[in-house]
Amino acid sequence: MKIIMLGAPGAGKGTQAKKIAEKYGIPHISTGDIFRANIKGGTELGMKAKSYMDQGQLVPDEITIGMLMDRIKENDCQKGYVLDGFPRTIPQAESLTKALADMGDKIDYAVNVDVPDQVIVTRMSGRRACLSCGATYHIVYNPTKQESVCDTCGSQLVLRDDDKPETVLNRLTVYHDQTQPLIDYYKKAGVLAEVDGTQNLDKVFQDIVSILGE
Ligand code: ADP
Ligand code: ADP
Ligand code: ZN
Repeated sequence: MKIIMLGAPGAGKGTQAKKIAEKYGIPHISTGDIFRANIKGGTELGMKAKSYMDQGQLVPDEITIGMLMDRIKENDCQKGYVLDGFPRTIPQAESLTKALADMGDKIDYAVNVDVPDQVIVTRMSGRRACLSCGATYHIVYNPTKQESVCDTCGSQLVLRDDDKPETVLNRLTVYHDQTQPLIDYYKKAGVLAEVDGTQNLDKVFQDIVSILGE
């Protein structure tokens, strides 16, 4: 099963993608996590991506598309995957559609997690991220057992630089300009599914499972 998560930054794509990956036994592929791992490792890709990410801008398609295409060719992707944070532009979506079509394949579901902008800003200021395993938490809505420590891997959690309010507003503008048009793109492709992302974490997941099947 090949799934795309759509939605604004902070809509809950990553949170739900992790649960989907676990339930259906497919890898969770987050382009944001791949970029952050490269920044942490000091790679050339990481250095290129960092300046864009810090400003809340998208990393250019020339860098992002090649990186994602390499990832989905890896062995663990044969049974499918859940993409979180890709595609974010029409050219990214078109490249993915074409690469899959060349293999006689296609995306099964594009799940749009719908959350209004006002809710996003409060969610982001409370988000805490684990840069080691990619888990995300929320200080109120999804707290860790021990404050500031990742439940999954025990690493120290951080407030991401790009989750500060001024950068979040830039990211929302970028989202509306460049990413929101993908909702229509996947609706036309006949694979769009919409869920109400303002519900609690478990209810959102239940709605997604009822779309994807048990
Ligand atoms: P969030 O989960 O809050 O939506 P991500 O971790 O997905 O954020 O992305 C963080 C940043 O990484 C983005 O603001 C952008 O700079 C960069 N990024 C991630 N995915 C892409 C992509 N598909 N295209 C361009 N830039 C991306
Ligand atoms: P995205 O990957 O779309 O940027 P995340 O999954 O990282 O979003 O979620 C953003 C923040 O909101 C995190 O702090 C997360 O714990 C929290 N969150 C996710 N889903 C919900 C929900 N349904 N209700 C309340 N908070 C949520
Ligand atoms: Zn962790």
